[in-house]
Amino acid sequence: MLIGGHVSPAGGLVNAFHRGVERDCDAIQIFNQSPRAWRHRSYEEDDVAEFRGLLAKGPVRAIVIHAVYLINPASKDRVVRKKSIDALAHALQTGDRIGARGVVVHPGSTVGEPLEEAIERVGDAIRRVLAQSESCPLLLENTAGAGGTIGRSFEELARLIELGGGDKRIGLCLDSCHLLASGFDVRTADGLSDVIDRCVEIVGTERLACLHVNDSQTGLGSNRDRHAPLGTGELGRKGCAAFFSEPRFEGLPAIFEGPGFDGRGAGPTDIKTARELRAKGLAARRRARGGRGGRTRARARTPARRRTRG
Ligand SMILES: [Zn+2]
Ligand SMILES: [Zn+2]
Repeated sequence: MLIGGHVSPAGGLVNAFHRGVERDCDAIQIFNQSPRAWRHRSYEEDDVAEFRGLLAKGPVRAIVIHAVYLINPASKDRVVRKKSIDALAHALQTGDRIGARGVVVHPGSTVGEPLEEAIERVGDAIRRVLAQSESCPLLLENTAGAGGTIGRSFEELARLIELGGGDKRIGLCLDSCHLLASGFDVRTADGLSDVIDRCVEIVGTERLACLHVNDSQTGLGSNRDRHAPLGTGELGRKGCAAFFSEPRFEGLPAIFEGPGFDGRGAGPTDIKTARELRAKGLAARRRARGGRGGRTRARARTPARRRTRG
């Protein structure tokens, strides 16, 4: 697992890399442009080249781009739709240039329009932006389920992948806070295991590409997107430790987005906590295996007992 945090790319990619190093990150996430503005940002050629050289040597070994929040490829409004597709294509092109593991995007919001039509518009947008870029993966993030947001269930995400053409470049970014808020009980290792069983059954293991590990201020099924510092929210230390140690997440970037313990973004203390929680989670799993004669889980799986939403 590549533990990391969201950092600012102010001053360029090389600066973002060093912010990652200062925080003891294995991976970093950046906004490739101001998160609440449409204006594109392009990195200088020498900055990109130096950054790629640094990334190859480490200790930061992976970068993911978070697309701007304004993007809504589900929108029926032609202006918003065009701007969304342009911004997303630009983010993927930047991902191609800088060697990103992917561009994470919130799939959009129905804004009061019928869900199926909105989902079809997202699928169409996905096909377009993939066609305008080369190889950078597009990672759909599961949402907390507020209002008309799309992507709150694995069924919805699978539908988006299908309508996006099923391209290998389409993957998932699972956010722990959003999972809990949208009604998936991921507060224990067993609960999380059931949820991920369901995820890989519906979407496929190969689509799991990135993680956002945030604690949640609000409870199970609250449908509110309110992050909390790791271990201090409704997931708590136990839930975060379980998330950081789920075997199917090995090798993936696991990004803490913040706010952190200092009330701002991901800081050194947050990454240190993330590493402690991962160690705690791995130790708990070893103990559980030891106590159960080599089996990870003591109880039978209970599929389809969880609420699934539209
Ligand atoms: Zn997230
Ligand atoms: Zn969030």
